[in-house]
Amino acid sequence: MRQLDDFLPRTRIAYLSMEIALRPEMHTYSGGLGVLAGDTVRSSADLQLPMVFVTLASRSGYFRQEIDRKGHQIERPDHWEPAEWASMVPAMVAVEIEGRPVWVRPWLYIHTSPGGGSVPVLLLDTDLDQNDAANRPITSHLYGGDQAYRLKQELILGVGGARILQALGFAIDVYHLNEGHAAFLPVELLRRFRRMAHAPGEEGDGHDRARVRDMCIFTTHTPVDAGHDRFAYELVAATTSDLMPIDELRGLAGADMLNMTTLALSLSRYVNGVARRHATTARDMFPGYEVTSVTNGVHVGTWAHPAFARVFDASIPHWPIEPELLARADTLDDGAVWAAHEEAKADLCRLVRETTGTELRPELPIVGYGRRMTGYKRPDLLFSDVERLRALARDHPFQVVLAGKAHPKDQAGKNLIASLHALARELSDVLPVVFVPNYDMAMGSILVAGSDVWLNTPVPPMEASGTSGMKAGLNGVPNLSTLDGWWVEGCIEGVTGWGIRSADSGADDAAALYAKLGETVLPLYERDRKGWIWMMKQSIAKVGSYFNSQRMMRQYASEAYIR
Ligand SMILES: *Cc1c(COP(=O)(O)O)cnc(C)c1O
Repeated sequence: MRQLDDFLPRTRIAYLSMEIALRPEMHTYSGGLGVLAGDTVRSSADLQLPMVFVTLASRSGYFRQEIDRKGHQIERPDHWEPAEWASMVPAMVAVEIEGRPVWVRPWLYIHTSPGGGSVPVLLLDTDLDQNDAANRPITSHLYGGDQAYRLKQELILGVGGARILQALGFAIDVYHLNEGHAAFLPVELLRRFRRMAHAPGEEGDGHDRARVRDMCIFTTHTPVDAGHDRFAYELVAATTSDLMPIDELRGLAGADMLNMTTLALSLSRYVNGVARRHATTARDMFPGYEVTSVTNGVHVGTWAHPAFARVFDASIPHWPIEPELLARADTLDDGAVWAAHEEAKADLCRLVRETTGTELRPELPIVGYGRRMTGYKRPDLLFSDVERLRALARDHPFQVVLAGKAHPKDQAGKNLIASLHALARELSDVLPVVFVPNYDMAMGSILVAGSDVWLNTPVPPMEASGTSGMKAGLNGVPNLSTLDGWWVEGCIEGVTGWGIRSADSGADDAAALYAKLGETVLPLYERDRKGWIWMMKQSIAKVGSYFNSQRMMRQYASEAYIR
């Protein structure tokens, strides 16, 4: 059993994230951001990168989704017990909140790669006897509560995270802020450096800021406005007083509101978006900052269905560590690829039967769609013209499996879930549409591998990257998506999948989607199985070999971590 001390001498990079999907039983994530952070952990261990990860314990999770008979989302607490998976570290630091110390203690979770490398993850917890009852739940509810609660969480993550790393004896050279949530970390570093006496000849303040900037790198993850936390300075002043004078914060984080993204931009040496297209969007959003890109990837060892893993093992040794080798997947045996897909599809049909009672037909294509239920992702685009959809399903029978949670405060997203349920009932005589509740890592892996086509319909340029389509592609499931996020780089028309392209982007996307399904995708599935399997293999070869988190982490290492 490895101990924290084993990691101290070599660890140089700290990665902070509000959520990290470490394993399905640990409810420390909500969606794509956390899954990406989890894949970052897994690849760092594979590659033996000298990293430590910091997140919140989130004992009550995000939420467990149930759907009532009317299609309404019900949110249940999703507790997990840290002691079952992590060990308590006997160290505490305090963060001053509303004039009182809030004590923070980390749980240590060690992720070990099948190859033997391992990395430590610290899960910060305020649920301690030492804390006032009101402060104990600060780290409990992921993305829960109000603005004041979120601000406290972000103080614990950034300030508490920096202090815990120092208290434990980590000598960190580079701090990677995964999204703006962690942007109080550089503020804490600045405070720390200012407390230390300056050597003769050093210029004090300007020097401190340059030193902090030199240590921090920042990844921004979304063009969606609600994804960028802003806090009123009155709230900030009432919550914390020992960090930095408010006037100075205004200079770094925005004059009117404390914008966590602006704060991170101001204090980071390197800033990146999560796909090429997203970096372009981010440069327009944040004029004056240099924003480069590292396109996201997925951890192939985690997301390849066991049946595909066996096929890869047989002819592409070392693929989990060097996914570049998957480029050779275009030479795999057709029969073996199809058999692996049938196994993955049977798993999905079983999941659907067990959770919804619906019996899907394995001989008909399944269009899969799993993502957060929110407006810009347009989960209802496929259903925009019910008559046209009916005609399409009559000519080319297929089935649809949907999944996704709406944020508890996103009423429009919840309405989408309810209307999808109503549409499913309305269409039930011609098109089976099922909604599988509680989209999470475990279900997601069955859904992406067992579908025949993976659908994505965001309004460009709102999807920064998206990663579920990469998981699908790795499992030989061609993508059908609007050209946004990673798909701008990943789409080779008729090879890795298809783009949904309308002349007048937006208004005609539904028509373009129906045309592509009816004229290209479904006929190919029906009439040319060999051609379909060729695309499956192209998808594995071209998506799996590049859109993986091994490549992503090597890129962060060479372009961002190493100066
Ligand atoms: C991969 C994954 C995501 C991210 O997928 P997107 O394509 O960004 O929607 C979200 N949630 C879960 C559970 C996942 O496994």
